[in-house]
Amino acid sequence: MAPYSMVTVSSTSDPARRLAAIRSQITAAAERAQRPVESIRLVAVSKTQPAASIAALADLGQRDFGENYLQEAIGKIQSLADRSPKLVWHFIGQLQSNKTRPVAEHFDWVHTVDRLKIAERLSQQRSPHGPPLQVCLQVKLGDEATKGGVSPADLPALLRAVAALPRLQVRGLMALPPAEADEDAQRRWFAELRQLLVTCQTEHPQLDTLSMGMSADLVAAILEGSTLIRVGTALFGERLQSPA
Ligand SMILES: *Cc1c(COP(=O)(O)O)cnc(C)c1O
Repeated sequence: MAPYSMVTVSSTSDPARRLAAIRSQITAAAERAQRPVESIRLVAVSKTQPAASIAALADLGQRDFGENYLQEAIGKIQSLADRSPKLVWHFIGQLQSNKTRPVAEHFDWVHTVDRLKIAERLSQQRSPHGPPLQVCLQVKLGDEATKGGVSPADLPALLRAVAALPRLQVRGLMALPPAEADEDAQRRWFAELRQLLVTCQTEHPQLDTLSMGMSADLVAAILEGSTLIRVGTALFGERLQSPA
């Protein structure tokens, strides 16, 4: 049995150890891809995690956080609002059109826009006094009924319409591809999203973001050009509860 003091030491050093491990994974993958490590932004996915765990990572220099569930997210955003430097909040959950207002009011980024109606509401509800909401369009790559996203065929028309909305700034594409065990299979999905972005860039050269890669496939995502990875479990440990 481990002595009590060992347990205490290892649990207090967990966030620092995990963050360092992810950062070195990012650095190694960037080297393999011959890309500058600064071109990859790490979003810590803090769904189901308490504000104290977010603050602990923020104390270590982590600034970007991702949330899926509005109700728990708003409380955490408000309780951490006075931090300096300010935290950057990314909404990565499924969006319902009747729940867009709190997203428009409290978040900096939304990664899951897949319908024009939602984009129009976010634009209407975003304050004209602050910066525009940074938006990625979610693309459906596999054929999974539970996941959202616009089809690749409908992407160009949606992108053109969203890019014209005044209070949104379209930054790029996001995907949540089917889970694959090996790196080559993971890379094929991510390469597909990268190719879609390249195609979109001919008409929209301002697009600069590929939001792809999570704990299990972030290396494959970086090798295929990801500029923003969304990492939960590998930073915070296994999620204990999942809200209904
Ligand atoms: C939960 C979630 C993540 C993080 O997943 P992990 O496997 O815990 O890293 C990333 N992106 C989205 C959209 C999520 O819902």
